[in-house]
Order: sequence, then structure tokens, then C-alpha cells
Amino acid sequence: MEPKLYYSRDEMKEINIDKLKERGVSVEEIAVIAFEQEKKYNKDVQMEECVESVLKILSLRDVFHLLQLGAEIDRLAEEGQFKGPIQDIIQNDLGVFGIDEIFGLDIAHLYGSVGQTNFGDIDVNKPGVVKRLNDEGKPGKAKCHTFLDDIVGAIAAAATTRVSQIYSEETAKKELVK
Ligand code: MG
Repeated sequence: MEPKLYYSRDEMKEINIDKLKERGVSVEEIAVIAFEQEKKYNKDVQMEECVESVLKILSLRDVFHLLQLGAEIDRLAEEGQFKGPIQDIIQNDLGVFGIDEIFGLDIAHLYGSVGQTNFGDIDVNKPGVVKRLNDEGKPGKAKCHTFLDDIVGAIAAAATTRVSQIYSEETAKKELVK
């Protein structure tokens, strides 16, 4: 049988939602982070807009590859499947191991410097599900979320940025009418 390599945006979105669920994360939990982040600057933001943006971001090919790979690395580390030093380094979420942040930055970078700044904020302050993943994956715990906490934080940051870009476009259109 031929391997399947190409997925449609709808397929990528659905497979990403399933993978997140498998690792204990819901779309709504990610959207809440984007909502809270955007609300600081924009009182009109709606939760549905954040959910819609998270779903759009989950359908992007780069996000598909990074999320699928990152979640599998976490699962394999959880199951002790890596050989050599990298098994303990990933499983114990070593602070100076920065490859998980690279995954996050790569996703956030899809939404430019603002996306990266928003990711930095989430990475430092660890709101909601990001904190939960971080706590669940602490050394000595059975779970490993070394990659997933960054990926989830970056998807939220990208969603925040997408929502604010949509509002900017709407504001520009209103100014045109004036
Ligand atoms: Mg991490």
C-alpha cells in the first residue's frame, strides 16, 4: 500500500484535534488563553472568534507537522522508548534543553514578531492549560509534556495574533467608510 503523505487542511485539523484530545487538551482550553490574552487590548473580543482562530491554526501544514511530531516525542519519552541520554533529558523536561521552545517559536513565527511576543508572554506566565501541562509533566511524574506545553502555548499565541489581525482589518475598513 502507498503511504499517505498529503493531507487536506480539514484532515490536518481533525487529526490535530484528535491528537490533542489523546494528550488531554481541548480546543476550548487553548482558545481561552487566546481570549484572555486578546481581551487585555480588545474588550470586544468574543470566545467564538478565538475558537475559530485556533481551528484555523490547527489546519496549517507546518502546525500539523510540529504538533504531530512533538506529541509523539512526548509519548515515546513517557513510554521510555528513546535510547541514550535524550530519554532522561526529554522525560525530565531539562531546563537548558531548548528544542521544545524551538517548536513553539516556529509555530508562533507563522504570525510574525507579534506572534512570537505573544508566545513569550504565555511561555513566561503559563496561563491555564499550559500550566496544567507543565505541572503534569514535572520530573518524577508519569506524564511527559515537554513538547506539548510549548506547542499548545504557541497555538494560543498564534490564535491571539490572528484575532487581532482580523480586528485591525475591520478597523481599517471602517476608517475607509468615514
Ligand atoms: Mg516545554
